[in-house]
Amino acid sequence: MIFLDANENPFDTGVNRYPDPHQRKLKEQIARLRGVDVGNILIGNGSDEVLDLLFRVFCEPRRDAVITLPPTYGMYKVLANVNTVGHIEVPLTTAFQPDVDEILRHSGEHTKILFLCSPNNPTGNLLDRSLVLELLEGFPGLVVIDEAYIDFAGDEGYVPLLEAYPRLVVTQTLSKAYGLAGIRVGVGLANPEVINYLKRVKPPYNVNELSQRTALEALEKSSRTRAMIKELKNEREKLREALSGISLVKELFPSDANFILARVDNAALRYQQLIEKGIVVRDRSGQLHCENTLRFTVGTPEENAVLLRTLRELEKETS
Ligand code: PMP
Repeated sequence: MIFLDANENPFDTGVNRYPDPHQRKLKEQIARLRGVDVGNILIGNGSDEVLDLLFRVFCEPRRDAVITLPPTYGMYKVLANVNTVGHIEVPLTTAFQPDVDEILRHSGEHTKILFLCSPNNPTGNLLDRSLVLELLEGFPGLVVIDEAYIDFAGDEGYVPLLEAYPRLVVTQTLSKAYGLAGIRVGVGLANPEVINYLKRVKPPYNVNELSQRTALEALEKSSRTRAMIKELKNEREKLREALSGISLVKELFPSDANFILARVDNAALRYQQLIEKGIVVRDRSGQLHCENTLRFTVGTPEENAVLLRTLRELEKETS
C-alpha cells in the first residue's frame, strides 16, 4: 500500500508512521497471557491513564463521587480532584482490609466507582477475597480492582471473574513485574461494553510506537519476566527476614508486592539519614494507620545489601 492519508513524513526513520491506535498485536499477546478476549482489553499510557479515563467516562463532574479506602494509592484522590468528582474515604480496618458495611453504607446512586487496590499500596497486602466478593455483589457502581502488583502475589487476582461481574474493572501494568515503567504501558480489563466506552474517549495514539514494540518484545520473552519476579520475591523474603533483626524496625507488614512497609522508631529521622547515605525510600507516615512507617521497594541484591548495612550502622549509632 502507498500511505498518503495521514500527512506523515514518507521517509523511513523507523518511527515515521503513527502507531496502531488499537494496539492489536499487544492486545492479542495480553489476551493470550491473561486468558481473556481482545475485546476485554484497553491499553493506556500507564495504568494511571486507564484510571483517569474511568473517571472521565463514568463520573459526572460536581455530581458524582468515588469511594477509596485509605491508606491506598494516592492517584485515585488526585484524579477525583482533577476531574472535579467527589471523593469519599472509607478507611481500611487496622488489618488493612475493607470495611464492607461502611462502604455499602456510603454507596448510592452517585457513588459511581469503588477503588480497591490488591495487593494494596503502600501496605503490600492482598485484600481478602471473601470481602472483595461481597463488594462485587453489593456495590451498585463499577468496582475497579487495581492489580499493579498482582504478579508478585502468587494469586490469580480477579481477571477470571470478569464474565461473572459485568461491573468489574481490573487494572494492571507493565511498570512493575515487567520492569517497563519507562515506556508507560498499563492495561484495563473489563466487560466489552465498558471497554468500548473507554475507547471512545481515549486519545487515538495514546501508546506510542516505541512503547508498543518494547512491550510486545517483553511479553514474548516471558522467561526474563518470570526470572525477575522470582528473584524479586526471593529478595523480598530475604529483606523481610533481615529487617526483622534490626532493632530500629518496630513492625513489618506482610507483603505480596515488590515493597515492604515497615514501622520504625522515627520515620522522619531515618528517612533523612538514609537520604544522606544516598538511599531514597518513601516515608508513608502521613497516611492513615501508617504512623512512623517507611516503604522499602525491593531492589537488586546489591542494593538491598547496602540498605541493610546502612540501617545496621544507624542502629549502632543509636545504641
Ligand atoms: N496503581 C498502583 C497501586 C501503583 O502503585 C501504581 C504506580 N506507583 C500505579 C497504579 C500506576 O502504574 P502505571 O505506571 O501503570 O501508571
